[in-house]
Amino acid sequence: MHGVIARYRDRLPVTAATPVVSLGEGSTPLLAAPRLSDRLGVELYLKWEGANPTGSFKDRGMTVAMSKALEAGVAAVICASTGNTAASAAAYAARAGLQALVLQPHGAVTGAKVAQAGALGARVVQVRGSFDQALVAARTLDERGTHVLVNSLNPHRIEGQKTAAFEIVEELGGAPDVLALPYGGGGNVRAYARGFAEAAAGSPLLVAGEAAERATTLASAIRIAEPAHADEATRAVRESGGRVASLPDEEILQAWRDLAREEGVLCEPSSAAGLAALGRAELAPGARVVCVLTGHGLKDSETAARESAEPIVVDPDPDAIAEASS
Ligand SMILES: *Cc1c(COP(=O)(O)O)cnc(C)c1O
Repeated sequence: MHGVIARYRDRLPVTAATPVVSLGEGSTPLLAAPRLSDRLGVELYLKWEGANPTGSFKDRGMTVAMSKALEAGVAAVICASTGNTAASAAAYAARAGLQALVLQPHGAVTGAKVAQAGALGARVVQVRGSFDQALVAARTLDERGTHVLVNSLNPHRIEGQKTAAFEIVEELGGAPDVLALPYGGGGNVRAYARGFAEAAAGSPLLVAGEAAERATTLASAIRIAEPAHADEATRAVRESGGRVASLPDEEILQAWRDLAREEGVLCEPSSAAGLAALGRAELAPGARVVCVLTGHGLKDSETAARESAEPIVVDPDPDAIAEASS
């Protein structure tokens, strides 16, 4: 079955009257990570959310939010975004035949994400200010009734995102001991906590990685100074017995490199914050751990290029190639 509404309809706020707007999101791979497992002394799996249609987990929530918006008869949706919510809103709005207005902090969104939202037909407006300021503006337009907000403050987003926990429980035959993930606005932490609670298969310890320098981190998808879900997210982490780790960018980047080079999974830097947080957690030997990789590495090709060796340029001569590559 393709799409989270098709797969989990009975656990989502939809009825037979809800028009389903889907791009086949969800059902993402849960990959074993043998090398990083050895290093951490645990049984580590990677929930590869970069495999979603627009390259991030936002699609799980957007299919529900956009379906409900279409059902309600709205004409236009709005979001503030560091890039991935905008790309997802653009795609699902196009699919639904709705207008999407996306507000991005000027100069703070990767080139690929700006291009993605634009190519999908969204009206992209860059705000001279932070993500947090853009979100305040988006909420005001939502209150005025001209647009419906599809940020994670829209409760349908969290509902859709909880389905990732269902998939993990089904695949592992129960909840993992530990679930690690990035913590930006905190919506996804809430979504996983709710998903595991509803699956009634046990609750993992939640280990959430946030940027120590929230306002300026190079991990642009979690560059959020004032997390909208801070109270609920930190409470969920505390009640699980886990912790929030505040991470310097260098630790996030090191985890990002490790995922790429040790396991062959290129996520975006923000997505590596969960693994970086695991590096600081005390993990029981042999614990079953799932690390959520929230978005695809091609979303931030600037960082990928900057952190990689320059390609070698040679003539098409086998000897020159052999010499240059030795
Ligand atoms: C949105 C996003 C996050 C942060 O999720 P929150 O729900 O805001 O905590 C992390 N990583 C990526 C790639 C994202 O797109």
